[in-house]
Amino acid sequence: MKNNSRILLIYTGGTIGMIKDYDTGALKAFNFDELLQNIPELKILEHEIETLSFNDPIDSSNMNPEYWEKIAKTINEHYDEYDGFVVLHGSDTMSYTASALSFMFENLTKPIIFTGSQLPIGDLRTDAKENLITSIQIAGLQKNGKPVISEVGLYFEYKLYRANRTTKVNAEHFQAFASMNHPALAESGVYLSVNYRSLWKPNRKQKTKLHTGFDDEVLVLKMFPGITEGTVRYMLSKENLKGVILETYGSGNAPNADWFLDILKEKIKKGLRVINVTQCIGGSVTMGQYETSVGLKKIGVVSGKDITTEAAVSKLMYLLGKDLSPKVFKTIYETSLRGEMS
Ligand code: ASP
Repeated sequence: MKNNSRILLIYTGGTIGMIKDYDTGALKAFNFDELLQNIPELKILEHEIETLSFNDPIDSSNMNPEYWEKIAKTINEHYDEYDGFVVLHGSDTMSYTASALSFMFENLTKPIIFTGSQLPIGDLRTDAKENLITSIQIAGLQKNGKPVISEVGLYFEYKLYRANRTTKVNAEHFQAFASMNHPALAESGVYLSVNYRSLWKPNRKQKTKLHTGFDDEVLVLKMFPGITEGTVRYMLSKENLKGVILETYGSGNAPNADWFLDILKEKIKKGLRVINVTQCIGGSVTMGQYETSVGLKKIGVVSGKDITTEAAVSKLMYLLGKDLSPKVFKTIYETSLRGEMS
C-alpha cells in the first residue's frame, strides 16, 4: 500500500548516473531515464516518486553557485507539492552544494536529502541502489503527519548526516563522508534508526523562505609552514575580494609574525571579512587559547568555531550577499543559523 509521502527526485549528475565512455575510458554523465531503468525497485517503494532531471547532468566538480541556485529554485517551485526531496549529486562537491542549500532555505519544514554513489548504478558492486532507496525512505519518513527530517541531509553508506556538517573524506571507500562535529541523524541497518536528539527542530509557524544572490568574491587561504608574505599579500589583494576563509592550524592558530597580522589588519580595516576555520576535520577554533591566535582575535577575525570549510564557504557567500555591516556580519557569522556550528 502506498503511504502519503510524495517525493521529488532531482538528478543533477555525478557517478551514480555515469557510464564509461569507451573511447576515452573516462566516466561521463548519461541519461536519467536509463538510470531509472537500472532501479526497478523504485516502483515497489511505498512512496510516490516523481523525477526531474537537469538537462545537462554534470560531474559535481563543475558545480557553482549558479547551479546551487538552480537546484534550490527547482525545490522551491515544487515545495508545496511534495513531502520531501532527494537530490542526486556527485559526491566530490556534495557537501558544498548541500551546505549552500541549507543556507538558502530558512525555516525549512521538509527534508532535502542529498545522495550519490562511489560506483555507477549500472556497476555490479554499486553502492548507488542502497543510497538512493534509503534516501527516498528517509525523505518519506513521517510522524504524526509531519516529516521526521526537516533539514538538508546527506545520506551515504548507511548514515544520514546533517549536510552542512559533512566533509568528503575518502575517494575510494563507500564510507566517503564524515561528520566529525555532529552525530549522525539516522543509521540504516535492519531497521532505520533515527537519532531524534540530533535532529534540527524546525519552527513550523514561520514561513519557509528562499535566499538567493550569493556573492562569490571569496577565497580559501590554507595556511602551510613556509607560506610567504608575497603569497599572502598577492592573494588578499585580488580585485573585488570580499571574504576569505583562513584555514588555520589546530584550534585556530596561524603565524603571529608581524607581516602576517599587519596584512590581515590592513585588509580587514578596508572591509575584507576574514573567517578563521580549522584545517582539522574535527574540533573547534578557539581564538585566544594560544599566543598564535590572540593577534587574529584582536584584529577582528571572525571565528568559524567548529564549522567545516565546505559550510564556511557557502555561509560566507550567503552573508556577503546580504550587505551587512562588519559588526553585524561578525555576530551573525558566529551564530549557528542552520545547525552548522555547535
Ligand atoms: N566525480 C564525481 C562527481 O562528484 C564523483 C562522484 O559522483 O562520486 O560528480
